[in-house]
Amino acid sequence: MGTLDGKVAIVSGSGRGIGREIALKLASEGARVVVNDLDKEPADQTVADIKAAGGDAVACVGSVSEDGFAERFVATATETFSGLDIIVNNAGYTWDTVIQKMTDEQWDTILDVHLKASFRILRAAQPYIKANPTEYHRKVVNISSTSGYYGNLGQANYAAAKAGMIGMTKTLAKEWGRYKVNVNAVAFGFILTRMTEVTAADNATLEIDGREIKVGLNPEKAAMASKIIPLGRAGTPVEAAGSVYLFCTQDSNYVSGQCLVVDGARV
Ligand code: NAP
Repeated sequence: MGTLDGKVAIVSGSGRGIGREIALKLASEGARVVVNDLDKEPADQTVADIKAAGGDAVACVGSVSEDGFAERFVATATETFSGLDIIVNNAGYTWDTVIQKMTDEQWDTILDVHLKASFRILRAAQPYIKANPTEYHRKVVNISSTSGYYGNLGQANYAAAKAGMIGMTKTLAKEWGRYKVNVNAVAFGFILTRMTEVTAADNATLEIDGREIKVGLNPEKAAMASKIIPLGRAGTPVEAAGSVYLFCTQDSNYVSGQCLVVDGARV
């Protein structure tokens, strides 16, 4: 018996990193999961791993920024698993530089992938949620960042998007209380994924969504970050997923409109 038996979840960006661990955690508690990723291979891998562990999942490949993606994502859940109970808006990446060097494209791309895509997914879900009331509470978890909560050098675009997700969370909590939907956000600090991987190279990049994106922290910066985190280290994707799970159970039914900062007590 899992705490999420019978529930259907959609998790954007769940082929890798934190999203993958969220999908695995929800599935391990009994939820059937729609796994999304930009690329087919990591999405299929998460689905295969969920199935190998005895769970159920299906892939919905594509960019959350694409027109029509949100409707397709929601329909994959309602048509494949006849439900939609948990929505986790997690997909995204960073594209940093100081404001005087930041292009309109850089600003728009990051606002689109984090904030607009999440808005579109929630908007696409509303008709189904309204038309299919439940006795239990449905759950939305929007993934934010300490950059959105407190700001961060070189991240005007990302911080604005992640702060916007907190504002949207608080608003949707008010709009969707009448549907028995809890809407919360989790703002991560330093979680070890490929975005923050410790690398000797100062100029490590990855191709994400057709763009060369700088990733990773150099060992000095990573060591400094760990020193100023009272828990003494970065978080793991499994620990990050655990904090999202807290908002997905029926034990948190009277918690809504909140942003939980998950940063090892850093700030
Ligand atoms: P990650 O390891 O790079 O994983 C991100 C996932 O999102 C990947 O599976 C990626 O797909 C997917 N993705 C990226 N753009 C997408 C798009 N347009 N459409 C669909 N999927 C897309 O990064 P992460 O660290 O787990 O980040 C997950 C979330 O946590 C993000 O919202 C991030 O901003 C937030 N966050 C992370 C940290 C941290 O320290 N790691 C801190 C604060 C907040 P591909 O693999 O195909 O590229």
